Amino acid sequence: MPSTDPSSERKALRATAREFAGDVLSKAREVTDALPTATERYRATRPFYEKMVAAGFLRRLVPQALGGDGTGASTAAVLAEELVAGDPSVALNLFSTGLGLAPLLRAGNADQRARHLPPFLATAGAPLASLALSEPGGTANLDEPGRDVGLRTTARRRNGQWIVNGAKQWVSHATGWEGTGPDLMAVVARAGNSPDPRRSTAVLLVPGPIDGLRIDELLDPLGHRAHLLPRFSLVDVRVPDADLVGEVGDGLGIVNASFGGALIGACAAGVMRVAFDAALAFARTDRRGGRVPVVEHQGVGFLLADVKTRIEAVRSLTYRACAALDRGAPGAEELSVHAKVFGSEAAVQSLLDLMRVIGVDSYGHHLPLAGLLQDALAYPLFSGGNIGFRRRRLQAMLADPAYDPWATFEA
Ligand SMILES: Cc1cc2nc3c(=O)[nH]c(=O)nc-3n(C[C@H](O)[C@H](O)[C@H](O)COP(=O)(O)OP(=O)(O)OC[C@H]3O[C@@H](n4cnc5c(N)ncnc54)[C@H](O)[C@@H]3O)c2cc1C
Repeated sequence: MPSTDPSSERKALRATAREFAGDVLSKAREVTDALPTATERYRATRPFYEKMVAAGFLRRLVPQALGGDGTGASTAAVLAEELVAGDPSVALNLFSTGLGLAPLLRAGNADQRARHLPPFLATAGAPLASLALSEPGGTANLDEPGRDVGLRTTARRRNGQWIVNGAKQWVSHATGWEGTGPDLMAVVARAGNSPDPRRSTAVLLVPGPIDGLRIDELLDPLGHRAHLLPRFSLVDVRVPDADLVGEVGDGLGIVNASFGGALIGACAAGVMRVAFDAALAFARTDRRGGRVPVVEHQGVGFLLADVKTRIEAVRSLTYRACAALDRGAPGAEELSVHAKVFGSEAAVQSLLDLMRVIGVDSYGHHLPLAGLLQDALAYPLFSGGNIGFRRRRLQAMLADPAYDPWATFEA
């Protein structure tokens, strides 16, 4: 159980998670990379996932008030930074289940939690949850009013239940381990007849195995190679009224709250740290046939210095955003979006800079940088793309006459 002092609790969690990342997760890439298909690589992560569950890390993503061990955004960020430093792809498997649970945790009722949460509170097994938002043809405009635009998955009332139809893609864990769906899928759909997405967007909970789930294609992502990302259809999936989260019309707010941004800042910090360690070790020891270690060349030293500045900035912004979220401070959402946008783009830029420090030898997979860059390239694009979602959110805040730019100073 977590201790009561938040800073000593986070310190203890950081030490535990760092040791686990070094002992367990850092071994995952050599296991998964050797396998030829995405399905095999994904299934090979199961023993690692089971160990994360057994270590109590999944319980850490469920608030204490709901039966888990979670104590807020700051502790979740510590966990993300440390586990991602062990293996970004396998760590993302855990945090994707956290994302899938978010609608239930944030907006579910007591009955829904009692029925769906127990498998995720255990410290055994490999329970998976999934948030199914993204659709073929794009999702950035899910709040666009009108009938032929925005989200295209529908939930229609028939004989006292919801019938869900539509197509989704890039949804983590949508296949489940066996292709029959995760233990719980939170599906975002347009329900009812209103063309206004603020009145019609809904989140419905679908436990697995899912009758009506059809996997159409497995995508071939650049990074996160141990993650399985399908394109799939939901065909006449039946959902009882009791599994509608909140009310029809609550969906946009639930989605916005579920895709918390600060966690991606923490993932970015984890990736940057590992790459920085590798590049610094190289620069301090390798002379490349010259007389001095390459760190003594100003061009190399300055690159490393700039990356270190970025790592410090990303971590400060991320943990500041998390502290604000934990206090419910005004400005917390804005800080969280800044942490996502700045952290994700700083990670990509820093990996490119650190590859320039090492030079050509960074291009092979015998050093971690190439693989980390492949993973980090997802950060600006996923969890609400930085253009299609995140900067638009900031723009909407800026355009609001009630916006106080310096409320963040109090956060
Ligand atoms: C590893 C990984 C895991 C993922 N896991 C999940 C998951 O679990 N669940 C899930 O639902 N999704 C998941 N995704 C998908 C991802 O989170 C979303 O599809 C993505 O965030 C969609 O963002 P987008 O901005 O690219 O949207 P899109 O709609 O695809 O937009 C694409 C581009 O169009 C432009 N654009 C579109 N509309 C506008 C506009 N109005 N204003 C300005 N520009 C616009 C922008 O340039 C934008 O980048 C995952 C993706 C990856 C890579």
